[in-house]
Order: sequence, then C-alpha cells, then structure tokens
Amino acid sequence: MKLKVSHLNFSYDDVEALEDVSLDVESTQILGIIGPNGSGKTTLLKCINRKLRPRYGTILIDTKNISNFSRKEIARNIGVVPQVSSISFSFLVSDIVSMGRYAYLSRFGRETEKDLSAVKSSLELTGTAHLSNRFINEISGGEYQRVIIARALAQESKILLLDEPTLHLDINHQIEILELVRSLARKRNLAVIMVLHDLNLSARFADRLLLLNKGRVYKAGSVEEVLQPENIEKVFRIKVKIIRDTETNILSVLPVSVMKG
Ligand code: ADP
Repeated sequence: MKLKVSHLNFSYDDVEALEDVSLDVESTQILGIIGPNGSGKTTLLKCINRKLRPRYGTILIDTKNISNFSRKEIARNIGVVPQVSSISFSFLVSDIVSMGRYAYLSRFGRETEKDLSAVKSSLELTGTAHLSNRFINEISGGEYQRVIIARALAQESKILLLDEPTLHLDINHQIEILELVRSLARKRNLAVIMVLHDLNLSARFADRLLLLNKGRVYKAGSVEEVLQPENIEKVFRIKVKIIRDTETNILSVLPVSVMKG
C-alpha cells in the first residue's frame, strides 16, 4: 500500500500555508515531517486527513483518489493521533478506544464481535489493556498517548498520522512511544507519517524525512540527506554540527549557535 500526495496547496484565507507539497510513504515505513513552527506541518496532516480541503493537489491511496471519500471512508483508511489535546471528560479508556470503531458502526449499530476484538487487540498491542477501566483524565501523559494510539489502531486503517506524539513527555516516555510506533508500523504494515519537532528523535525513528520551510518542501530524502548542516542552518537559522555515534550509528544534531540576521 502506498500513500501519494502530489502538488498540495492550501491557504487559510490570506495565509498561504502549503505550496506544492508532494510526498509518498509505503507500508511499514515512517516518514518524519520536520520544520520550524509555522512551516505547515500540522496543516499538511490535516489536508491528508481531509479535515482541511486543499486548494489543489491530489491524495492517492494506491490508485484511489480520496478527495470524494466520506468521513467514514477516510477513517477506515487513515488513523490519526492529533496533537495533544487533553480530554478532560471522565471517559473510560475502553470507551475512548471504542470510539475508533465509529467508522464501522451503522447509524444505530451496536458493536459487533469484530468491533470488540479490534478494541481488545488495540489495547493489547499498545500495552494499555490494564488501563481499560480507568478514566482517561486520570492516567499519566505517556499512558494517555498510548491510549490515543490504541484508538487510532482500532480504526484498522493502513495509514497512521501522528502530530508531535511525544510533546510534553519526558525522555523515557518519548522513546517508549516512538518505539511503539515503529513496532506497529512493522507489525501491522502501517504507512506512518509523523510530525516531530525534535530533530534527534526524527533522526532515530524516521525511515525518511521531509523538511518543510514556509509551507514548501525544502528537502526530502533519507535521514542523512535531509539532516545536512546546510539544510538545518538555512531553515532553522541555527548553526549545527551533525554527529554520528560510532557505536549505534545514530545521527544527532548538535546546535552550536543561533545565526544572526
Ligand atoms: P506547524 O505545524 O509547522 O507549526 P501550521 O500548519 O500550524 O504549522 O501553520 C502553518 C501556517 O498557517 C502558519 O503561518 C500559521 O500561522 C497558519 N495557520 C495555522 N492554522 C491557522 C488557522 N486556523 N487560521 C489561519 N492561519 C493558520
């Protein structure tokens, strides 16, 4: 399965937020989206998910154009983990994950065996089964994020979009969540697009990267190709050193100084 986005343009009234953005991602792959604040990362995810309607551009899942898909068809194809928005109502964790089945329920439909088993396996895969009878507003940030991922998995879509899934988490939970996403991509054959503000985490967990600058693709390619000092300097206006750890072979970005002017 392949998701292919071509020549996407989007404006909020007079603010041009995306211009000629193209990308593709296949099953089991993680495409990391990086770029400074306001570069269009969230807007891009919302256009792919059809929350926003692009002015131009096409989005294909294999050969199917999704522009006329209903909300339910979108939900069967694309699962979303939105940027942290805390749910302050006291829903049970199991109810939150069941909401992922919305795309399969008929108007007055009751949950079927298949719905229940999708919820159960999503809870198990994300290590949240033991939380099912807890209230969503009474669990930790890391647990919360795993529950929201479980809700997206319950949709049984083949594409997963995540918007800064590690925001506000401490480092051990950041790694835990990203390891979970990576293992789900491989186990469930998911094509994953993930916005990450942390360049070091993007280097470690993305298979490929897309660097946005002012709504345009500045550079797309392998982690090595995108995380070149000149790309980061130009887009983030910061001098950096890119260091490869000889033991793990992981790249990291060391900020050196902010550029003037
Ligand atoms: P990022 O996720 O990279 O921080 P966004 O996609 O949120 O960037 O924003 C891209 C651009 O669109 C920015 O200039 C931002 O100010 C603008 N923008 C985002 N949301 C809205 C909105 N609801 N109305 C008007 N402008 C918006």
